[in-house]
Amino acid sequence: MKFNIKFKDFAAADVNPAAGLYHFVVTMSDNTQIRLIFSKNPDWKLIGVNRLLTVPCPICRRDYYCNCMSKYAEELEREVLDNELISSVL
Ligand SMILES: [Zn+2]
Repeated sequence: MKFNIKFKDFAAADVNPAAGLYHFVVTMSDNTQIRLIFSKNPDWKLIGVNRLLTVPCPICRRDYYCNCMSKYAEELEREVLDNELISSVL
């Protein structure tokens, strides 16, 4: 199944400028929530993608841990950086 990357909300979660580590929580249009872990050194880079277990995975329908979102890391990173979402919430 194709996963439609459409952000509904983007929020800062854990922010640690000294370590250059920033956690954000994305809510997708289907209510899937994903934690995105970015490093800034000095450019932003997505280093981790974890689906929060609030709703079942839109791809495999599991309601426990799965790895589906990692396949979309590139698209997720581009969506965040192209739309300058980080500077809009920090
Ligand atoms: Zn899955």
